[in-house]
Amino acid sequence: MIESLSTRARFSFQFKAMFIPARFLALSLLSLLLCGCKDSSSSPQSVSQGVPLQLGGKEIADRIARKAYSHTETILSFGHRQPESAGLDQSRAYVIAELKKHGWTSVEQKFKKMTPKGEIQFSNVIARYAPNPGQNPWGRSVTGVLAAHIDSKILPNFLGADDAASSVATIVALAEHLHKNHPTAAKQLELVFFDGEEAVGPNMAFQVDGLYGSIHYSRAVQSSVAQAISPYKKAPQFGIVLDMIGHKNLTIKIPSDTPKKLARSYDAARSKLELKNHFGKSSGSFLDDHYPMIVIADIPTIDLIGDFSANKWWHTSADNMDLISKKSLSMSIHMTLEILSNHL
Ligand SMILES: [Zn+2]
Repeated sequence: MIESLSTRARFSFQFKAMFIPARFLALSLLSLLLCGCKDSSSSPQSVSQGVPLQLGGKEIADRIARKAYSHTETILSFGHRQPESAGLDQSRAYVIAELKKHGWTSVEQKFKKMTPKGEIQFSNVIARYAPNPGQNPWGRSVTGVLAAHIDSKILPNFLGADDAASSVATIVALAEHLHKNHPTAAKQLELVFFDGEEAVGPNMAFQVDGLYGSIHYSRAVQSSVAQAISPYKKAPQFGIVLDMIGHKNLTIKIPSDTPKKLARSYDAARSKLELKNHFGKSSGSFLDDHYPMIVIADIPTIDLIGDFSANKWWHTSADNMDLISKKSLSMSIHMTLEILSNHL
């Protein structure tokens, strides 16, 4: 799913030189805005106001982790989540239904894209918190984005339990927690489930193969912000991407391109929570869904990603439920809650 970025500067230049057709941008926005909801004047409120926000400690993280584990099992029961598959459709429907139970409204951001295996229909799921009937959450801006990829790579007998069903499941479980305990913070968040993160061919290459959903989403955000129109009149101030966060031998390594303010939060959190043995830093950067969010949408984004490089399970049939640990999920959830607390 990820390739090392050995020449970051070259990548950045390539993107800046890229031409984005206006028609493409218009379609992106249209698909986002077709939510069929009524207007709402509700706006995000500042939660902190001088008092540090505390979204949850270890016991709460343990509780959320148990639910995340169960959601992971359910998602895997649908089978693989390759592009345009029944398993992917069922997974999206499950996520949307679970979120709806807890006050979150979802839209599907559908788009077609040419890939090395021909044209594919993709669909991101984007959710915002709107617990009251008739509320339209798309007229306001959000402070943060919490995202994971919902597709699985096209490989035989590959379910992608940790890559990245466990991350999708975690966001669904966190959404329930925020609804029940922190509705004001929930209003400031957007949840995104990217389709097409995985390359359809063997290797990912920026704007060639892979990251289809996050690139499409980021262009829609960028266009909306440039025109100062809903649903992103202002750019979200931060993003968190979760990927491979439930492995029983949890070794998170954030990429070297992590924006400074989020790297500081990460450092503070791993010290405070005594999680330095499981949360480290990579010496390099990778291609993952955080990258388009940073370079296209200009959303400073941290990628909480498990170290896939030294593990034989990555992109094999061994990435199944046997790998997933509630304890690891809890640590990743605790870290996520801590970073969210610092930035919402
Ligand atoms: Zn992958």
